[in-house]
Amino acid sequence: MRFIEGPLDAAYDWRGDVMSPDWDPALARRKLRSAPEALVCDALLDQDVFAGVGNIIKNEVLFRIRVHPCTRVGDLPPRKLAQLVAQARTYSFDFLEWKRRFVLRRHWQVHRRRECPECGRHLELAHLGTRQRRTFWCGHCQVRY
Ligand SMILES: [Zn+2]
Repeated sequence: MRFIEGPLDAAYDWRGDVMSPDWDPALARRKLRSAPEALVCDALLDQDVFAGVGNIIKNEVLFRIRVHPCTRVGDLPPRKLAQLVAQARTYSFDFLEWKRRFVLRRHWQVHRRRECPECGRHLELAHLGTRQRRTFWCGHCQVRY
C-alpha cells in the first residue's frame, strides 16, 4: 500500500493494473524482460508489474500455466511468458467472480491443497523467493525452465 496525493489518474498507472480496461500486457512483458533474474513467484507479486495480484493468484496462475515457481523470468520460453501475463489478468477476473459467489475456495487447485488435481501427487509447500510468501506447487506437473 502507498499513500497517493492529488488526482489518482495522475499518480497511478492503470496500464499496470491487471483488472483495468487500460491494462497493457505488452508493457508487462517488457517490465518482466527487464528483470530476467527474478523468480516467477516474485515477479507475479511485483505490484509495479501486476498491480492487484496477490499470493493466492500467484499460486493458481503458476499451476494453470504449469510453471515451477523457482523458474527465472529470463528462462521462460516466450510462449510461457505471454501465458503468465495473460493468466495474471484472466485469473484475477475468475477470482473476483468466484469471490462474489462465495465459491472461491472450491476453485483453488493448489493453494492450501495437499494433492495435485492433475496427477494426484502430494503438492509441495515452501516459503519461496525474496518475498518468502507461502507457495504451493506440483513438482511433477509444473516445469522448471
Ligand atoms: Zn501434478
